[in-house]
Amino acid sequence: MSDNAACSEYRNQRNRNGRLVAVPALHFKEAHACVQREVARHFASKPRTLSTEAVSLEDCDGRVLSEDVRADRDSPPVPRSTRDGFAVRAADFPGRASVIGEVRAGSAFNGSVGAAQAVEIMTGAPLPMGADAVIMVEHASLDSGWITTDRTVAPGQFINRRASEYTQGEAVLEAGHRIDFSSVALLAAVGSRTVPVFSRPRVAIVSTGDEVVGVETVPLDYQVRNSNAYSLAAQVRRAGGRPAILPVATDDLESTRAVIRRGLQSQLLLLSGGVSAGKYDIVETVLSELGAEFYFDRVWIQPGQPLVFGRVADTFVFGLPGNPASTIVTFALFARTAIELIGGQVESPLPLLHAHLSADFRHKPGLTRFLPAWLSTDGWHIAPVTWQGSSDIAALARANAFLVADHDREIWNAGDLIKVLPK
Ligand code: AMP
Ligand code: MG
Repeated sequence: MSDNAACSEYRNQRNRNGRLVAVPALHFKEAHACVQREVARHFASKPRTLSTEAVSLEDCDGRVLSEDVRADRDSPPVPRSTRDGFAVRAADFPGRASVIGEVRAGSAFNGSVGAAQAVEIMTGAPLPMGADAVIMVEHASLDSGWITTDRTVAPGQFINRRASEYTQGEAVLEAGHRIDFSSVALLAAVGSRTVPVFSRPRVAIVSTGDEVVGVETVPLDYQVRNSNAYSLAAQVRRAGGRPAILPVATDDLESTRAVIRRGLQSQLLLLSGGVSAGKYDIVETVLSELGAEFYFDRVWIQPGQPLVFGRVADTFVFGLPGNPASTIVTFALFARTAIELIGGQVESPLPLLHAHLSADFRHKPGLTRFLPAWLSTDGWHIAPVTWQGSSDIAALARANAFLVADHDREIWNAGDLIKVLPK
């Protein structure tokens, strides 16, 4: 099956009674590609409705550029030395030259370097006229105002040519780029005191379930506090979205319909719970009634097999499984990507790493598993942490990563590389 067919060919199939028929289950990679493709395709077909704003350079980290940023001058604006040493004419060496002066960063040499002449130069200083190379201080011996080296000197060595990094007017950062600390450096270097960014997309969060009660409540034995709304809000913020926690929907059609309707006014709707095969798992039914188009409703992963991804008009929707670990993992794998793309990012790569297993590991092939794990402080080794399954938030809180066991491999030996998704 091609990637493209994987999530669109079968969607919205209904049986003779007009009821939704299960869309096919996808493997992890296909499902992730599907989210990327469908969000990108939707915005390719219509202009983005996100508003834009200007934020200060100090506040722009993590935001997404809404316009290209252009350089206000060449970089470097003049050729510059990349070493402490001597600015010379390459053709004079091997040989010697008399030192006629000095130039340091923050100044320019008033004069020019002639044959058999050298100017002492510091890293970052502009190359004096006439010079075409720099000899490192470690490679020359200085004696009574003369430098000597028996090395050959290549023209251009240890020099950053004018405009070798970027030229005036060039788009050094493009719209859709998510700003990080290195882009902050670049924005500062080109003089961007304010930065044009997309407004953060609004993400509605709806928990479902008769057993779910507020955090301030002392739960009865058959109740659970609504932890998902808060973990999701934290994850939404980290992905660049603006979370809005809506009231909990009880497991009946009216309540679920009313809250989903409200949630559909946002750019993305995240639901937790109510997507398994149980009698009261009605999220998919309600979404379907409200005109949802579904891309998939099951992914071969653990935790989190039942997982609904669809769209109602311009609002994308995830129905995430309600068990806290499943909610957290499925968000990290799929909803994060959707929020980043909806928020204007051009790309949203999964931050997968590799680390060496601390001990032998095996699992039953078929599902890609994402298990809470501890990535050693040196970053080289990974070990699963003991946990009791998808409801065990305490184990998850002790982990700093997920170990990713591919669906088509059964055995790993201690020391083998395995995929890791940092938390
Ligand atoms: P569900 O996916 O609706 O079958 O929910 C599975 C289990 O996840 C439930 O039995 C609850 O224990 C738990 N759960 C569901 N929603 C939440 C929530 N909002 N916060 C914490 N746990 C939840
Ligand atoms: Mg439920």
